[in-house]
Amino acid sequence: MAHTAPFWSHPSEHYGGPLPDKAEIVIVGGGITGVSLLYHLKKRRMRALLLERGHLASGASGRNAGFVLAGVADNYATAVGTYGRERAREIWGFTLENHDAVTSALKNVDVGHNRCGTVILAASDAERVQLEESAELLTDDGFQAHFDGDVLYNPRDGEINPTALVAALARMAPDGSIHEHVNVTGLVAESKRVFVHVEDETVEAGIVILATNAWTSLLVPSVKISPRRAQMLAMAPVDRVTVEKPTYSDFGYRYWRQLTSGVLLIGGWRNTSMETEETFDDKPTAAIQERIEAFARSELGADTPVTHRWAGTMGFTEDGLPIVGPVEGMPHVFACAGYNGHGMGFAFLSAKKVIDSL
Ligand SMILES: Cc1cc2nc3c(=O)[nH]c(=O)nc-3n(C[C@H](O)[C@H](O)[C@H](O)COP(=O)(O)OP(=O)(O)OC[C@H]3O[C@@H](n4cnc5c(N)ncnc54)[C@H](O)[C@@H]3O)c2cc1C
Repeated sequence: MAHTAPFWSHPSEHYGGPLPDKAEIVIVGGGITGVSLLYHLKKRRMRALLLERGHLASGASGRNAGFVLAGVADNYATAVGTYGRERAREIWGFTLENHDAVTSALKNVDVGHNRCGTVILAASDAERVQLEESAELLTDDGFQAHFDGDVLYNPRDGEINPTALVAALARMAPDGSIHEHVNVTGLVAESKRVFVHVEDETVEAGIVILATNAWTSLLVPSVKISPRRAQMLAMAPVDRVTVEKPTYSDFGYRYWRQLTSGVLLIGGWRNTSMETEETFDDKPTAAIQERIEAFARSELGADTPVTHRWAGTMGFTEDGLPIVGPVEGMPHVFACAGYNGHGMGFAFLSAKKVIDSL
């Protein structure tokens, strides 16, 4: 019987201790965004308090596939249509820079990073046309990409162990800055300070940064981020290579990779049941799990047992881009969230943008 738990193990460190009454900066949320904010603050010699209601990486950051992809969730041709050529180019460049920056911050730490490139496999004629066009546009815009048959190759993409990444950045934070199992229940922003309510305590903060991704609107409803459940499974090592590179397909609704151990990680199929997947509920469902497993057996030829089945909650925005900056109507409150399923590609430098703006 498979575990209904993420494949990635929790960070081994635990963080706690009494909360101070005051803090210059409070970060809410301990995923990749929260620990990236701590990293950039430390570079600026600024201190902060990070409050996480579960353990670090208990949200999407500890439940994802670990693809480090350039660009937004849509392919480049669609992004050019949505945002315009110049903006699409800027976004692609930003995510490549994010990849470089996060890996150089961790260059001596093993976080399972491999800049092996990814393949985007067309699942239909319509997708094939868009991928071919994407390759042309990317090349014209000075980026590396090529199209061959049904596949768009992005050689600058890569893969990572997302929990190891969060744990490594957390270890770099100053002692006493991280507090796990602290649920922030409300924020009251006044002209000079923000009161952060934490069950039966209150911390008075100079600045609050929301690194709460899918859950941001539960604390601040004016930030328009809505939840989407994404589901995955892991299969015991297959003794041959069935997947050479992390693969993304069907407009990003299917993705799979194989670890060096032979383990297969496969996820997606949310588009087969859109209405049930707009939820904060992070339990896997039989309907989607059956589809993922059927694909793994029939298309990838995987014959080993499923060891883990899990789901996580992504944060989606109205325009498909992260929300990074001050929250309107709430002085001293900032948001850094809403990555539309691509936080590994965006979060580290989005966090830097917020810190640089303080
Ligand atoms: C199944 C799945 C597969 C994915 N695959 C990929 C992928 O391959 N590549 C990629 O780039 N992205 C992927 N994503 C998306 C990626 O995981 C997210 O974009 C990224 O992890 C967001 O990081 P975050 O730190 O902003 O949010 P999270 O990791 O969700 O962290 C937010 C944290 O805030 C905490 N929190 C919320 N409310 C409160 C509160 N009131 N008080 C205290 N703490 C609070 C939560 O407990 C949580 O730990 C995937 C997501 C899922 C679910």
